[in-house]
Amino acid sequence: MTYPRRAALLTRVREIHDVTPHMREISLTGPDVPHLRLRPGAHVVARIPGAEGYARRVYSIWRHDPRTGLLVLRVALHDAGGPGCTWARGVAVDDRIGVEPPRTKITVDESAKFHLFIGDETGAVPLLAMRAALHRSSRGAAVVHGVFEASSPEDEVPDVDGVPPLPWVHRGRSSAVASPVLLRAVQDLELPTTGGAAYIAAESDTCRLLQRHLIEQRGWSRHAIRVQQQWAADRPGFGAGRD
Ligand SMILES: Cc1cc2nc3c(=O)[nH]c(=O)nc-3n(C[C@H](O)[C@H](O)[C@H](O)COP(=O)(O)OP(=O)(O)OC[C@H]3O[C@@H](n4cnc5c(N)ncnc54)[C@H](O)[C@@H]3O)c2cc1C
Repeated sequence: MTYPRRAALLTRVREIHDVTPHMREISLTGPDVPHLRLRPGAHVVARIPGAEGYARRVYSIWRHDPRTGLLVLRVALHDAGGPGCTWARGVAVDDRIGVEPPRTKITVDESAKFHLFIGDETGAVPLLAMRAALHRSSRGAAVVHGVFEASSPEDEVPDVDGVPPLPWVHRGRSSAVASPVLLRAVQDLELPTTGGAAYIAAESDTCRLLQRHLIEQRGWSRHAIRVQQQWAADRPGFGAGRD
């Protein structure tokens, strides 16, 4: 656990609902939320309260609605979970939570001729938000390919209404670490040969396998591939950095 040093935005939980058996949507509100400026794919560091202070955990922004003043996160509930999962499992309406100002690592390249989205359940949070923004900005004209992986059909992350769905594959009880199921699904995709932008968000070793496949087997330039590692085996607090 660490203690506050930098200012965080104070928010309160407005709504909670389960979007799958293993993913909880948590809507936050607060005086700063309507004024946030962020790009699709952005994330926040949430300061998860605990007995001795707080733990920092990173969550992608599923939706930001300045009009209603909502900042919506989708948090995966997994068995190995630490403070983030514990918070999401026990969170209640009106609970307070500090979030640090949004940052962006992965976002849409509007100039690409086509777009390739690849991710696991937690990666689907930023990627589907980006894909929905692209659908809106291009009025449905963007050429989109991709595939997502979940453990089972019931864990497929629901998309934004009105956006044509991308396919999902299922790993069953196999590990999501260095997932051969997602790699095979990507190897099977029929893609245009040039001019694309790829967006990969998943477990760290899976990201590496997928990136290597695109570069070595498909001849993609490294610059055309945007990668956001979401989590890594046995690395609590992955990606949150220091306070
Ligand atoms: C840029 C970025 C964006 C992210 N966006 C989201 C998001 O939108 N939604 C979301 O749910 N998470 C997201 N994450 C992951 C999130 O920050 C936490 O890592 C995750 O919630 C686990 O936190 P925890 O405190 O429960 O477990 P930790 O204390 O961080 O880890 C405990 C154990 O759980 C394992 N673990 C962590 N995640 C998973 C997983 N998905 N499946 C299986 N085992 C796991 C770890 O390897 C570790 O062994 C994001 C991470 C990054 C870096």
